[in-house]
Amino acid sequence: MPIKHFTIQDAATLYGVKEWGNQYFGINSKGHLEVYPTQDENLCADVFEIVQHLRKKGLRTPLNLRFPQILQDRVEVLNEAFRKAIRQYEYDGSYQGVFPVKTNQTKEVVEEIVRAGHKYRYGLEAGSKPELMIALGSELHPEAMILCNGYKDEAFIRLALLARRAGRNVLITVEKMTELPLILKVAKELKVEPLLGLRAKLASMGAGKWEESAGDQAKFGLTTREILEAVEVLGKRSMLDSIIELHFHIGSQITDIRKIKAAMKEATRIYAKLVKMGIPLRYLNVGGGLGVDYDGSRTTFASSMNYTVQEYAEDVVYTTKDICTQEQVPMPDLLSESGRAVAAYHQVVVVDVIGLIDTTYTKYSVELTGKEPQVLKELAYTRDNLSVKNFSEMYHDAITQRDEMLTLFNLGYLGLEDRSKGEILFYEVCRKLDRILRMKSLKYIPEEFQDLSKSLSDKLIGNFSIFQTLPDHWAIDQLFPCMPVHRLKEKPTLSATFCDITCDSDGKVDKFIDLKDVRTEIPLHEPRKDEPYYVAFFLAGAYQDILGMRHNLFGAPNEAHIVVNDDEDFRIQHIIPGETVDDMLRTVHYDPDLLMGPPMTKRKNRANDADEALRAFMGTERRRHTYLDM
Ligand SMILES: *Cc1c(COP(=O)(O)O)cnc(C)c1O
Repeated sequence: MPIKHFTIQDAATLYGVKEWGNQYFGINSKGHLEVYPTQDENLCADVFEIVQHLRKKGLRTPLNLRFPQILQDRVEVLNEAFRKAIRQYEYDGSYQGVFPVKTNQTKEVVEEIVRAGHKYRYGLEAGSKPELMIALGSELHPEAMILCNGYKDEAFIRLALLARRAGRNVLITVEKMTELPLILKVAKELKVEPLLGLRAKLASMGAGKWEESAGDQAKFGLTTREILEAVEVLGKRSMLDSIIELHFHIGSQITDIRKIKAAMKEATRIYAKLVKMGIPLRYLNVGGGLGVDYDGSRTTFASSMNYTVQEYAEDVVYTTKDICTQEQVPMPDLLSESGRAVAAYHQVVVVDVIGLIDTTYTKYSVELTGKEPQVLKELAYTRDNLSVKNFSEMYHDAITQRDEMLTLFNLGYLGLEDRSKGEILFYEVCRKLDRILRMKSLKYIPEEFQDLSKSLSDKLIGNFSIFQTLPDHWAIDQLFPCMPVHRLKEKPTLSATFCDITCDSDGKVDKFIDLKDVRTEIPLHEPRKDEPYYVAFFLAGAYQDILGMRHNLFGAPNEAHIVVNDDEDFRIQHIIPGETVDDMLRTVHYDPDLLMGPPMTKRKNRANDADEALRAFMGTERRRHTYLDM
């Protein structure tokens, strides 16, 4: 058979970049990862060249790359989807979205979203006092909304109402009945008419990892009874006109469009009944939950979704119109609070692979001299006679023989040389068995062998901390797409998992996207000597930055914001240096100056040269980043 060369098309299929990349990422003819920040292949930049350029400027990996044009594109995609749906269904209301600041509070990210959203009257949603301050300080369109969700104390409410008095479009969503008297008290004191929303606790639940955000047991929202009570309380004070919004949120990353439709039906009925009770609701707020297809499978799997942004907009618009028509009430203006779908795509994390841990002796094999102890001869026999017909029993033999070998070693009967030979022989059996299992593509692989290939995988060490960079992979098994940044014309020869550089055995990536399943390994290239090997994790722009932890005192990586120009060129818009050793020490309350010891003049004994050298080195190292300098 002629040898078929590995092409960039093969690489695209292998890593699924066309499926999950949403036309933002691809591979160029050099075999490098490419970015198309406007989903148009004519505006592109070579990510490998970006990384090399940044490294030349002294920015070490790991690198957080942000593409502000992708943020802009996401804002447009979302708003245009609703515009189109409104036109298509001749809907009698408008769409006005808000970006929930909690998804990514980074100043440049919020600013870019605000700028891109200005023409759509796109607003912001805040869930805490600092987030509200971010929203109040942003240059929003005068008609854009600022929504206050989440639990609120009197100060939060005062902040919102003072801003309302100053003429800002700040709306307070009542999440809990106890907030209502506080709102009324502060509003009376400030002589301001509040803008209020009611968050309904729907019976309809989301699907996926966040399904407990709704339903009877949910943490947020008002029950039907409480909504009626709120109406009564406000009615008594002739304040029904203040209630302008009905809100619901059934959880993040809704994987199944049917759940959205069901929630829309329920919420629109509540809206209609309230309107008929004389409440002049203007907005129906459908919350967040618009998903991101992290694995590209278009399924209801937790890291995927079975609908597009356009279908989402159409279902929201159509369902609202349908039920309002049935109920004969005016159609509300639609609000939504999509965070993940707006922010996820813009951020790519580039990690350099610093080596391979060989846990399975891949480079070794044993030739017996004939003088070895019996147990090694038996292991060699197993290795040489393992075949398709007997692999199961032979594997059991190998395990027994390895255990025997270790017992003999522990009793003092074997030397280190023999033990080492025994270990190599055992892994030779495992590798041979793995080849048989793969070749045969057996209909049924007994459970005991299912983990075999995982334990034989090549373990690459990435210069990053998963706790800092992809906390949701560690915490809730969320999958993020991953692929090399270069060498994409070369066939990958490794079947790998990643370890990070924290001293934590959980610091690893061993679950990868797959169209049908979850892969336990990913095909990657063997790192070459004296040449960096870069691998990227994608779709990391939503929630990861702020959830990131400082385990082992690894801090925020270096960050660069890249604008892609015509002519396949790019411009660095911002560089944000990562956290330094100093920064990390201060987060745990150390004063790095004191750690360096008392200054020369204050010391009893005269300092010696060794002391001085140590101080000098600490002095420069403090200002450097926390990752390995490779
Ligand atoms: C978190 C949250 C959102 C954002 O959800 P996404 O799934 O990221 O779109 C919207 N609204 C509320 C009330 C939230 O708590």
